[in-house]
Amino acid sequence: MPCEVKTRFLLLYGSQSGQAKAIAEEICQQADEHGFKGDICCMSESAKYNLETETDPVVIVVSTTGDGEPPEKALQFVKGIRTKTLPPDHYAHLCYALLALGDSNYAEFCKCGKTIDKRLQELGAKHFYATGHADDGVGLELVVDPWIEGLWEAIRKAYSNMSDPNQERNDRARTGQNGEPAESADNKQVADLKIQLLRINDSNDLSPDLPEPSLDKGKSGTETTPLGASLTTSISPLSESTLNIPALPPQYIHVELMNTTTKEENFIPPDQEAEHQVPVTRAVQLSREDAVKTALLLELDISGTHISYQPGDSLNVFCPNNSGEVEELIQRLGLAEMREHCVHLQLRTDTKKKAAQLPSYVPEKSTLKYLLTWCLEIRSIPKKAFLRALVDYTTNAAEKRRLQELCSKQGSSDYNHLVRDPNLSVLELLLAFPSCSPPLSLLIEQLPKLRPRSYSAASSSLYHPGKLHFVFNIVEFPQCSGRAVPRRGVCTGWLSELISPILQQHGRPSRDPDSALVPKVSIGLRPSTAFHLPSDPAVPFIMVGPGTGVAPFIGFLQHRAKQRQENPDTEFGETWLFFGCRHKDREFLFRDELEHFVENGTLTHLKVCFSRDAPKGPEPAPKYVQHNLCLHAQDVARILLQQNGCIYVCGDAKNMAKDVNETLIEIVGKELTVDKLEAMKVVAELRDKKCYMQDVWA
Ligand code: FAD
Ligand code: NAP
Repeated sequence: MPCEVKTRFLLLYGSQSGQAKAIAEEICQQADEHGFKGDICCMSESAKYNLETETDPVVIVVSTTGDGEPPEKALQFVKGIRTKTLPPDHYAHLCYALLALGDSNYAEFCKCGKTIDKRLQELGAKHFYATGHADDGVGLELVVDPWIEGLWEAIRKAYSNMSDPNQERNDRARTGQNGEPAESADNKQVADLKIQLLRINDSNDLSPDLPEPSLDKGKSGTETTPLGASLTTSISPLSESTLNIPALPPQYIHVELMNTTTKEENFIPPDQEAEHQVPVTRAVQLSREDAVKTALLLELDISGTHISYQPGDSLNVFCPNNSGEVEELIQRLGLAEMREHCVHLQLRTDTKKKAAQLPSYVPEKSTLKYLLTWCLEIRSIPKKAFLRALVDYTTNAAEKRRLQELCSKQGSSDYNHLVRDPNLSVLELLLAFPSCSPPLSLLIEQLPKLRPRSYSAASSSLYHPGKLHFVFNIVEFPQCSGRAVPRRGVCTGWLSELISPILQQHGRPSRDPDSALVPKVSIGLRPSTAFHLPSDPAVPFIMVGPGTGVAPFIGFLQHRAKQRQENPDTEFGETWLFFGCRHKDREFLFRDELEHFVENGTLTHLKVCFSRDAPKGPEPAPKYVQHNLCLHAQDVARILLQQNGCIYVCGDAKNMAKDVNETLIEIVGKELTVDKLEAMKVVAELRDKKCYMQDVWA
């Protein structure tokens, strides 16, 4: 029920890729409909808000980036509240709700949100609503949607508490002696867990004082799509359900395509990070033709740049969208005649969107083709709000209904299985729903910025002066309901096409690297904060990198080989590499180089395993890297627990890194004869001391 007078709350967001910002904007938008006024500010806009004097409820939406770090725009905020001299009642006047975004594929899930939450509690601030931990690994909306839904009642309650003369008493009942909320230890943890993982079947009561979102178990994504359902067809009961569909996202961009045909400029990525265009001087296919995945190595000539990297750093590759797909999208939007027209963007004067801004990543005078090629992530999975908006541009009733289902609460399972899991793109959706004709403005409003892709440096500049290597697998998306033909990842697909002439010329371009005909790649450096060789060469270390996860360790070993050559009297610690792949003969990446490092003593121990080869002898062979770690548990424990050595893990975050982590906990538990909780603490300490480092990606 809307309130008569608009009641204000402060809405702060800390965004890295724009997700937290978009969610905050969504909250702001919905606030209006619920009779509230959200004062929305980026955390970095410290001149626009003052927590020291804030008396209205505060809503915080914040993401986590990198290795658990705050987004850049939240750094100052986090630093500010962490000031050690602040008294414990510094924020005793504040009541707040926090929505933390993260990805559970990484060890430091929602770390920034958790840090802010913990610190605000230490400084006396109080929750008026249970903290939400939304997981990009399973779909942010599973937590975000119910969290927002419950927010309005919680704000209302917070206000009524404020005007309630018994408020102090209520607060005391909720607050322990040190200002620590009484519910915060157990009940809050339960509340947080409940909201974080919808799949938990938890019957614990939540604190009666702390409103919590009502979680819709039907959205857990654990159920399967009923047989017979496809992207365009639903079956009962969904086909007969009354649907709760999200609010229509407000339009805010007006687009004009102007016939002032400008010549397509040479590529200048719309990003300052893209510092260098460098030639590809070598390309090698590392896997055999019959391998499950195709692994490629590229060598870039960086001698003409200021790039200075260390093994362990990554590079950002700025890639365009697939040209065929861009053309198809232009055709599908009915804009074929205007592909070279200039895109002129303006904010709509009648927009209801709060704090609407034009996307900074669309340069002035971009042509339509340039916009779709270099600026927008046209492959991003359409969000439910986008589907909702498409409904209004669809004329066929059956198609309209299906789009409504896919964005509805009731159709969540279909959305997860038919849109999100197969990574469907907007083009694929438009091809499946032929009567849908959205305007270009909708795509600009709903599609995120095309982001560069990161790759670990797979070389050392000591070993290969002026060169930078990286390794990748071509990502393949198979056919599915809604995708008639298989396709490749945006960047890996583009790179593989770019270098195919080089591969045909036995790995090296036939021309001078400066020639305009030699393929060039736009790159920027993405330095790592900690994933580097130990500064003391005597420190022993273990590397765990199956598949392309071996990339940074090739850089480490090249570097170490050169250091050993140049410093024959220095003492170097032992080095272990745990590598794994499917078949020894098809995808044992860098086999010769690794064996050479063993021969010359750079690599003391090389432990490999093959997950799909039959064991050679009667004994079962280790399948995965963690099985090999178990076989060498005593050495692993000795290096980590007695010799202050380090362990590095690189590669797949979803399965491998989690399993390796579990194995480390087991090894530590066994070696120290402590229980699992104690072992977890020891492993967490190793992590804190930067003796256990991960560079993993989902
Ligand atoms: P996209 O079109 O962006 O599609 C990616 C989507 O495909 C993912 O969202 C996922 O849902 C799905 N997918 C399916 N299989 C895979 C798979 N095997 N890998 C990735 N996504 C998959 N990759 C390397 O190959 N080598 C590296 O050295 C490397 N280093 C990285 C370092 C860092 C710091 C980070 C953040 C990532 C690194 N990656 C590395 C991953 C890389 O940046 C890209 O995500 C990957 O190459 C896919 O890009 P794409 O544009 O081809 O795929
Ligand atoms: P991969 O597909 O992960 O496979 C490599 C080996 O790992 C295979 O033998 C596979 O076996 C095995 N494996 C599967 N599940 C496992 C598990 N739970 N534990 C241990 N091993 C397991 O290799 P890849 O294609 O090279 O992928 C590596 C991933 O890391 C990619 O997603 C890539 O983008 C990413 N990457 C990230 C970085 C970084 O963040 N710096 C660097 C390089 C690569 P089966 O298939 O037989 O089960």
